[in-house]
Amino acid sequence: MSPALKANCHREELLALREQLDAQLSQPAIDAFEPADWADRASQQTEADVNIGLVTREVVLRKEIDDALERIAAGTFAICEKCHAVIGARRLNAVPYARYCVRCERRVEDEGNLE
Ligand SMILES: [Zn+2]
Repeated sequence: MSPALKANCHREELLALREQLDAQLSQPAIDAFEPADWADRASQQTEADVNIGLVTREVVLRKEIDDALERIAAGTFAICEKCHAVIGARRLNAVPYARYCVRCERRVEDEGNLE
């Protein structure tokens, strides 16, 4: 399958994933995060503090999905951001928003450095 076709398959998948996440995030009483609480905090803390406070798993994941969709639009989907190798189809089937190839991902995890 050509890279463009492959990206297109994953695009549908990513859009569906994002919709799911949005539905989850818009539910009012997930965990300890109440919308009223968010607004309250926003008024008391600096923007940076609020951003850190809002970085739940879902928010991080949503960003990953958005970034992957941007890479599809830019034509760089399935290309490792670190070593520019093509990310394997198996990895993309498991993690359609993968940013790095398996090797770089392991290195990033080992170093504990996400930059
Ligand atoms: Zn890589």
